[in-house]
Amino acid sequence: ATPIAVLVGTGRGAELGILITGPEALEAAERIDVVLIDKTGTLTEGRMTVGDVTAEGIDPDDLLLLAGAVEAASEHPIARAVVAASGSATPPDVDDFRSVAGRGVTGIVAGRTVAAGSVAFVESGAGLLPPTLREAVGRAEADGSSIVAVAVAGRPVGVVAVGDRIRSDARETVERLHRAGASVVLLTGDNAGAARSVATSLGIDDVVADVRPEGKLAEVRDRQDAGARVAMVGDGVNDAAALAAADLGIAMGGGTDAAKHASDITLTAGSPVAVAAAIELSRRTLGVIR
Ligand code: ADP
Ligand code: MG
Repeated sequence: ATPIAVLVGTGRGAELGILITGPEALEAAERIDVVLIDKTGTLTEGRMTVGDVTAEGIDPDDLLLLAGAVEAASEHPIARAVVAASGSATPPDVDDFRSVAGRGVTGIVAGRTVAAGSVAFVESGAGLLPPTLREAVGRAEADGSSIVAVAVAGRPVGVVAVGDRIRSDARETVERLHRAGASVVLLTGDNAGAARSVATSLGIDDVVADVRPEGKLAEVRDRQDAGARVAMVGDGVNDAAALAAADLGIAMGGGTDAAKHASDITLTAGSPVAVAAAIELSRRTLGVIR
């Protein structure tokens, strides 16, 4: 592309809420075959709210208080929902806080170890969930909720269902990407039930769920190895490796710095529809000159 065409493209991009790092990004966007797109915070608003709380051997309010305390230091949208539901203006202090991307968090609250995260994460540290909590997981998955399992002092004691709203323009995003000839794959660390329910309502036919950050990266690489030119769209620390490896990494403006640093394009308007606009823009800008 000529320098002038790229300048026009990037300038128009800024008007559309698309921050482009350089001409390579515009050229990569023109050739994309498949768009891998994160769910939580990207296709959904990432403003989650707590639904059903199931506690086993602990008072539900205490469960939320302890989980909210460890989640207070996490920047994950799920964490913000749990903190809000814990209803405590001054959450208890947490020692030895740890965060594992795409898995969950742990910390010591009032002398007890608290873990909050995916079922697999909590079970790996505290053993299998008892039947009442298993059933709560099944109900939450069936209604499309995300799930936070909680263990206290090495015992699984709770399941918190967390719901999110699909962004109003997510459907248009998928339609425009399809029209531009790109296939769309939902790629999420969330459970298969939550992933399916979002995919179905958006007309996305390919879903990869329950993947950790390395799994997102592997998905990008597998498709590149098969000859596809891959765009990845995400917002989280859990997306950073996949964003960096993709032919085109696209970060949500409202997301984490880790995602933005790993990406070629940032969507400043905070809407995934700009992904489609970016690909359309690149084709117009570069197509004119060739
Ligand atoms: P996505 O790929 O949709 O953005 P993530 O990979 O960030 O989702 O998270 C996958 C799953 O890991 C979540 O659905 C949740 O069960 C768990 N998880 C990750 N981070 C946290 C956290 N801070 N608190 C609770 N659960 C978490
Ligand atoms: Mg996300």
